[in-house]
Amino acid sequence: MRKKIVAGNWKCNTTVSEGVALAKQVSDLVVSKGAKDVVVVLGTPFTHLTSVAAIIDKSRVSVAAQNCAAEPKGAFTGEVSVSMIQSTGATFIIIGHSERRDYYHETSEILNKKVALTLAQGLTPIYCCGEALAIREAGTENAFVQNQLEETIFNLSAEDFGKIVIAYEPIWAIGTGRTASSQQAQDMLAFIRGLIAKKYNQSIADNCSILYGGSCSPANANELFGQPDIDGGLIGGASLKADDFLAIINAY
Ligand code: PEP
Repeated sequence: MRKKIVAGNWKCNTTVSEGVALAKQVSDLVVSKGAKDVVVVLGTPFTHLTSVAAIIDKSRVSVAAQNCAAEPKGAFTGEVSVSMIQSTGATFIIIGHSERRDYYHETSEILNKKVALTLAQGLTPIYCCGEALAIREAGTENAFVQNQLEETIFNLSAEDFGKIVIAYEPIWAIGTGRTASSQQAQDMLAFIRGLIAKKYNQSIADNCSILYGGSCSPANANELFGQPDIDGGLIGGASLKADDFLAIINAY
């Protein structure tokens, strides 16, 4: 059965001590009041991973990096490899966030390598996809997202594909306060699941957790998560406030 997942993406926010305090607050809230059937993930900056992994209750909360190197090791100044991330205690890696694709020119080829390295090391990729506003307005969002999946993750073996998490994040909804309607999100997630069924098989499609991301908040999470194909959320802004994040976790 596919898992319900609520993953926070802190982006480039918080110092180490602020991040550790936030993670402790979230972990304590999840332990005392959080829905037990939801996998909770904290996507912190690289600098925070080890300290955050050390203070959370790992039976209820997991840690994610927000990126990784596209090479396993070597002369790549400033890069952080998957094995380094694994050595911190993190178990997920967010890959292909639109901010990385847009601001750091991460191509499908680069993302393809990152996904493969993450899986090879036994970590779980949270693979992000989603279209810009102009594409949505032109009505070509399905073809665009299909192309992203084909170029980046549809080359995986069925066994590896069964280990990934997908996050659909329309760029026009990220950090804008403009959420996709629950119908728009449901339609795209159902489309993605249908593509997975065609490419692999129905059982892999049915077991794949597909998340929605984009201005998800305590006010809209319940309606979004009530859709049959939405298995949770990738949460940016609201993951920086422990109470809001808990409310989203408990919105199922
Ligand atoms: C994100 O960056 O992944 C995201 C969904 O951000 P926000 O929730 O702030 O729109």
